[in-house]
Amino acid sequence: MNIREKITALRDELRGHNYNYYVLDQPTISDYEFDIKLKELQQLEEAHPEFHDPTSPTLRVGGEVTKNFETVQHEHRMYSLDNSYSKEDLEDWEKRIQRILGDVDVAYTCELKYDGASISLTYEDGKLVRAVTRGDGFQGDDVTANIKTIKSVPLQLKGDYPPKFDIRGEIILTLEGFAQMNKERLEAGEEAYMNPRNTASGSLKLQDSALVAKRPLECLLYSIVGNNLDIKSQFEVLEKARAWGFKVPTVAKLCKSTQEVMQFVEEWDVKRHDLPYETDGVVVKVNSLRHQEELGHTAKAPRWAMAYKFKAEQVSTILNEITYQVGRTGAITPVANLEPVLLAGTTVKRASLHNADQIAKLDIRVGDTVFVEKGGEIIPKIIAVDFSKRPANSAPTIYIQHCPECGTELVRNEGEAQHFCPNDTGCPPQITGRIQHFISRKAMDIEGMGSETVELLFKEGLIANYADLYILTKEQVMPLERMAEKSAENLVNGVAASKSIPFERVLFALGIRYVGETVAKKLAKAYKNIDALMVASEEELVAVDEIGGRIAESVVQFFENPTNVEIVDRLKSYGLQFSLSEEQLENQSEKLKGQTFVVSGVFETIGRTELKKLIEDNGGKVASSISSKTSYLVAGANMGPSKKAKAENLGVPIVSEQEFMAML
Ligand code: AMP
Ligand code: ZN
Repeated sequence: MNIREKITALRDELRGHNYNYYVLDQPTISDYEFDIKLKELQQLEEAHPEFHDPTSPTLRVGGEVTKNFETVQHEHRMYSLDNSYSKEDLEDWEKRIQRILGDVDVAYTCELKYDGASISLTYEDGKLVRAVTRGDGFQGDDVTANIKTIKSVPLQLKGDYPPKFDIRGEIILTLEGFAQMNKERLEAGEEAYMNPRNTASGSLKLQDSALVAKRPLECLLYSIVGNNLDIKSQFEVLEKARAWGFKVPTVAKLCKSTQEVMQFVEEWDVKRHDLPYETDGVVVKVNSLRHQEELGHTAKAPRWAMAYKFKAEQVSTILNEITYQVGRTGAITPVANLEPVLLAGTTVKRASLHNADQIAKLDIRVGDTVFVEKGGEIIPKIIAVDFSKRPANSAPTIYIQHCPECGTELVRNEGEAQHFCPNDTGCPPQITGRIQHFISRKAMDIEGMGSETVELLFKEGLIANYADLYILTKEQVMPLERMAEKSAENLVNGVAASKSIPFERVLFALGIRYVGETVAKKLAKAYKNIDALMVASEEELVAVDEIGGRIAESVVQFFENPTNVEIVDRLKSYGLQFSLSEEQLENQSEKLKGQTFVVSGVFETIGRTELKKLIEDNGGKVASSISSKTSYLVAGANMGPSKKAKAENLGVPIVSEQEFMAML
């Protein structure tokens, strides 16, 4: 094989693997093997720029930066869709269609309406040449560099494709991908994104395509336009697109009547909650493309298609009062206290109002009749005011200026939606919130003590911070409400026992803003003891792997506060763990750096939790389920057969307990 053939073969092979992984969700090789091959191709391409190919899988990682997205005319206009909300709407639509087409049988293709950002992809000779956003329907932005990084978008088609066509689809984020992105953001001390749809659509306009490449975006396709295409129906569009290598969901169904359409709608109104992505309805399309042509378009939308919107469950009720909650970090959340009302099977009395902007935007006032909706979230939300029912004497809501708990003037940082109370050491819910966090299971795990006990102890003046817990005596606690000698003893013993909780959890328990469990582990590992951490500068902190600017700033601020330093000093004097133990220090290494392990089954010489800790102490990562990102599956006795099969399928090496120990 000469170099050119070798490059072509590698490209084809890697395209195939991308397709299996991102379109079919059925990878056949491990990520590791994929990376090796990709690197090999990269090296060959670098050495031989004469064989450059804009559709090479090596270009998926992005890197191209677009300062201004070029405006491009759509060769075929991108229309919007008309909406319907009931069976009657749908039947009216059918009548309108019949009036134009005459007395013929009309079949419909039903698809889900994917909730993301629409995109138009142009292919010439099987290669992606352009990707343009919908824009105003006539022209959009050229976002090709960004779209190329989305792995389910084929750069090179397979099979029997026409020489030139446009294909339309929706760029989406799966719920899981979205949750993962938010988790990483929160851990990095950044604010969470609002919803998958806006995040997907915002991603398309990022200037740095390498950032787009990191987001778990997907592209689901649903329509092909072009001249002289040998396609007769919408259902065939979907099949063809799938055959050429596009990701096309298989839920689509060909229906012979609006009755069947309604069945599809009803079925998916329920099943949509199990889908990996969000959908807000069904798109019904006249199946025959000849019929579609005859029906044509209105100014805004095709006459041959209709979006059937699922109903979000909604009721109206009266807003009795707005109260304000103060959280552990001082963040203020306005809460709507509602006239109780039944919604989606539960009685709703309260709804979140999010922040001051939200109240102003909706112009919500006490006494208003409001519409309440239950979406995917647990807490219902107010979506609008019924202005026709607004009482004559109603007055605009004035957002509070002072903390409802301690009276301190509230502050609002630039760029943040929420107000907060800055009195972190004197504001009761912040004080008790911090102590409650301190004793919680993942922090100091103090047995014999719960949230109510903390409130009680605080109210009785027995504790004002978490250091005070360590000087409580049985005699002080016993006289309290619902305390007996035994429970008082348990409490005091529980506090004493927590002195052996390891450093990283003590660090987490301190409740430093943005220092969650994972960050605390990282910091403990990097600094080894609190004295080193207390004097670390922001610059030093951000140099630690995965520690961002917000976290660094917060850590420095925490230890600049003399009250916090005094409390830490007291905790030290009571004997809490403020450094990694000798044993931890001895056992730490970077031997497993960059590798991800899944642990399954029962082990002979070590418990499962200890095994996981061993992995982390040596720089490895522990994941809960096997994916192509898994480096090794550590298998004990009685491992589930499905895990084994999955690992074998993905080519993830399976190692025994002994083999794992040998790795260390
Ligand atoms: P709307 O934005 O409400 O006018 O709805 C029209 C948009 O729905 C289109 O521009 C597409 O981006 C989107 N859409 C999502 N899923 C589909 C689908 N299966 N067929 C057609 N359009 C869809
Ligand atoms: Zn306060």
